[in-house]
Amino acid sequence: MATTTTHPEAGTLTGTPVVPGIAHGPVLLARTEVSQAAIDAFDGSDLTEDAAIARYDDVAAAVADGFAAKADKASGAAAEVLTASAGLARDKGMRSAVLKQLKAGDDLLTAVRAAVDSFVTVFTGMGGLMAERVTDLRDIERRIVARVVGEPEPGVPAPEEPCVLVAADLAPADTAGLDPARVLALVTERGGPTSHTAIIARQLGIPCVVGTSGALDVPSGSRLLVDGTTGVVEVDPDEDEAARRVAADREERAALDAWSGPGLTADGKPIRILANVADGESARSAVEAAPVEGVGLFRTELSFLNRKDEPTVDEQAEIYGQVLGAFRGKGPGDRDRYVVVRTLDAGSDKPLAFANMLEEENPALGVRGLRLSFDNPGLMERQLDAVAKAADDAGTETWVMAPMVATVAEATEFAEAVHGRGLKAGVMIEVPSAALLAHRMLEVVDFLSIGTNDLTQYTMAADRMATDLAHLTDAWQPAVLQLIAITAEAGRQAGKSVGVCGEAAADPLLACALVGMGITSLSMAAAAVRPVGARLSAVSSGQCEEAAEAALAASDPMAAREAVREVLTGG
Ligand code: PEP
Ligand code: MG
Repeated sequence: MATTTTHPEAGTLTGTPVVPGIAHGPVLLARTEVSQAAIDAFDGSDLTEDAAIARYDDVAAAVADGFAAKADKASGAAAEVLTASAGLARDKGMRSAVLKQLKAGDDLLTAVRAAVDSFVTVFTGMGGLMAERVTDLRDIERRIVARVVGEPEPGVPAPEEPCVLVAADLAPADTAGLDPARVLALVTERGGPTSHTAIIARQLGIPCVVGTSGALDVPSGSRLLVDGTTGVVEVDPDEDEAARRVAADREERAALDAWSGPGLTADGKPIRILANVADGESARSAVEAAPVEGVGLFRTELSFLNRKDEPTVDEQAEIYGQVLGAFRGKGPGDRDRYVVVRTLDAGSDKPLAFANMLEEENPALGVRGLRLSFDNPGLMERQLDAVAKAADDAGTETWVMAPMVATVAEATEFAEAVHGRGLKAGVMIEVPSAALLAHRMLEVVDFLSIGTNDLTQYTMAADRMATDLAHLTDAWQPAVLQLIAITAEAGRQAGKSVGVCGEAAADPLLACALVGMGITSLSMAAAAVRPVGARLSAVSSGQCEEAAEAALAASDPMAAREAVREVLTGG
């Protein structure tokens, strides 16, 4: 897998950093494969078809129960993925596929593998979030196979002392029960920034580096120093130096907790620090968790993922009103709060039953986001009516933006519809064509917001969910940075606000470089607000500009990260 580079110095590995922080401890290797010897020793040929399916039923139920028990002890994203895995293990379609293979003459192990393979093909073909579930399917397969051959299910051994956990990739069931007091850091050989490992590590606040080639070859008994900001993993570093870096990191993290906003550079340049939210609940918890000045991205489609029918205007207005209601009045620094509502970004990895076509050859390049309104203008009209109603009721300043805009004509039409309802109109910059024409977009809209997740995906022609393409789906890629800079400069010239609301805004170093390019607001998950706000408050706007220049001049993401760190921290 060509996801990473290995440092020239001996004993140093490099991967994609996904959760910042520094940790040092002994390596603990997670065994996530069933032993080949046990598989070779298994002979399923004397099981009748009835006996084989009965064995499958027992084993699949035991595996599902195991997931469910772990889900009960977990919370948040971890509980959700575990519950979903329990459902997959019990899935009737999977059982039918196994039975079909048995009837065709396969033995039980071959039947299980063929059934899982057929599901993997379907999930991969669906792309996006469904393709991500392939890791879960493979995890279920390994657990079923282990039980069929009479082995314990593979997984993470319970650490006896604080350790750095190293694995090929971790399935939800492996990561969900992790104790952050015992697992100091996570290092995986595979996986990208959106993998389960990364999601759970973020939730637990454990420093994490993914896509680290060579990680599994680290000799047992080694000690690792993991830097979740740079992605560098040192094998057997100098103990004193490692202890010093861990202590410095701890101090830095304590300082972050003290940051209380508003967003300002050290020399007083204001930057709006905003939250990404999905509904009223996440909006209220963002206000409680962090000193945010509003919402830079309200992903409205996430409220309707399970809906078969389009919600009425009143229903929508009620849901949007909950988010707007959480941001009434003034925020930190006595600045007026505002909420940026994004119209439905249905399609691709977030299909909506009432909005999307069932089958598309290539959904990421298909009818998603604003494109849904081409054939169904009423869908957007009704949503805008609902947003306008909610804004009127709540009295919160409300901006509205459209996702997946590719042409100035689309922006013009959208802005007219939004302005007609007395609201501020903007578009997301997620398609390279929109970034290149940012100056013309700004002639018709009031603001722009860069969705770096999709902008990176479309610039690099690399599926944002593909775990093997983590080195390409990186917003630090020079081509992505150039497009961001073009967009920010267009905003500067027009005197209009240009924000970033993709994952790039949550990276404290990159956030400073973005501000240096002219970005005026940064919107992110609430957990990232303090690290980003505190980092900005420690650097001057001149340093941010220097960081932007250094990032833009770098030849690859690693060099860009290093150059920016040097500008901002002096080393
Ligand atoms: C983005 O693409 O960066 C973005 C913020 O939108 P989403 O992640 O919802 O596609
Ligand atoms: Mg997007």
